[in-house]
Amino acid sequence: MKTLLVDDDSFALQLLARQLSNLGFVNIIQCMRAREAIAMLESDAARFGLVFCDLQMPEMDGIEFVRQLVRIGYRGGLTLVSGEDERILRTAERLARAHHLDVLGALNKPVSPHTLQELLARHALHVASQPHAVHRTYTPQQLRLAIDNGQLLNHYQPKVSLASGALIGVETLVRWQHPDDGLVEPDQFIGIAEDHGLIDDLTRTVLTAALHQGGAWHAGGLPLQVAINISMDNLDSLDFPDMVEREAAAAGMPLRHLVLEVTESRLMKDPLSPLDILTRLRLKHIDLSIDDFGTGHSSLAQLRDIPFTELKIDRGFVHGASRNAYLQVILEASLGMARQMGMKTVAEGVEERADWDLLRASGCDVAQGYLVGKPMPAAELPRWLCEWENRRGALLANAA
Ligand code: C2E
Ligand code: CA
Ligand code: CA
Repeated sequence: MKTLLVDDDSFALQLLARQLSNLGFVNIIQCMRAREAIAMLESDAARFGLVFCDLQMPEMDGIEFVRQLVRIGYRGGLTLVSGEDERILRTAERLARAHHLDVLGALNKPVSPHTLQELLARHALHVASQPHAVHRTYTPQQLRLAIDNGQLLNHYQPKVSLASGALIGVETLVRWQHPDDGLVEPDQFIGIAEDHGLIDDLTRTVLTAALHQGGAWHAGGLPLQVAINISMDNLDSLDFPDMVEREAAAAGMPLRHLVLEVTESRLMKDPLSPLDILTRLRLKHIDLSIDDFGTGHSSLAQLRDIPFTELKIDRGFVHGASRNAYLQVILEASLGMARQMGMKTVAEGVEERADWDLLRASGCDVAQGYLVGKPMPAAELPRWLCEWENRRGALLANAA
């Protein structure tokens, strides 16, 4: 596989080429003209595994270069490099991702060998850990049968205290154990359930299993908080709070240990009904979490109108915050706001030690993410807990 470097600055080109060759890269091709680079890729796209591209080039800027990559169907990795403002670089990175390019990251000039190495290592890890998931579209009928035939199963992801490392609770994340396709992720079927009137049955299935699991943990001396995702579409049946209460009682799960995570996935038909339902859930002492906070779906208006008890900061603001001053500002502001409103704060998508340290220093309450533990079947939780007990001390020591 070849690596292509595109930059109109020959010094920058040579520097990057040297750094890459020090890291063991061979077959590095340097190109000072974007059009030539595109022509080269166009004639032989499959031979190139990685492209580094400068954003600021005279005849074709990095944004147009990205557009050209999409046009010719380039499938390899892309790294953007720039001496421009950090925010321009980040925006360009987002744009490239939105085009479904495989973006390794964005590098500020001058590129430090250490940052470069980190970026490449992270990418290698990411590629290696990608499951060979089948991406298929399912019909509502198939999903209907899956719900009826018990093919949905819950995984649980740990939520731990940032101050003490103690396990506080879990988030329930549904999966579809498909007979042919293996374990199907929720992003592939939640939307179908919402669009075709299946979300009430899906939520009910997930909820019942999670409450029984929670009841079993409590009975076994592990009083975990159990969080369940609900869709705003669940909140137009006025019976919802009573249904939850009945199911929880049957499962032996105290309502005080139940958290419902709410995201708004679309505009509400009737904005009063969710307000009615959410307020009644609070009257039953069920905790309400505003999920994906900071994204278009979870807004300040919701925070104003709905009695949330927990604010869950979207992983888009958490992941890499230790390396990005703008994310830090948003993170701090969200935490400060939640604190003043008396809400508990949860950061999702904590993958890196540096982000964990930042969250601890910022006074965030709870962390969830791959650094702590991935979503897992309930049966694996005891083993995870043992492993976590051995590991958590190191995460509570001061940052290196
Ligand atoms: P979410 O509520 O934001 O859930 C967190 C997602 O982030 C989960 O994806 C989880 O596996 C993933 N995640 C956790 N830690 C990390 C991390 O450190 N790094 C990264 N990159 N990802 C992390 P999952 O399980 O694929 O779920 C996707 C979404 O599907 C959930 O997003 C939630 O909105 C929805 N969902 C899952 N289960 C249900 C359900 O029972 N009902 C409803 N209505 N929606 C559900
Ligand atoms: Ca959630
Ligand atoms: Ca999220």
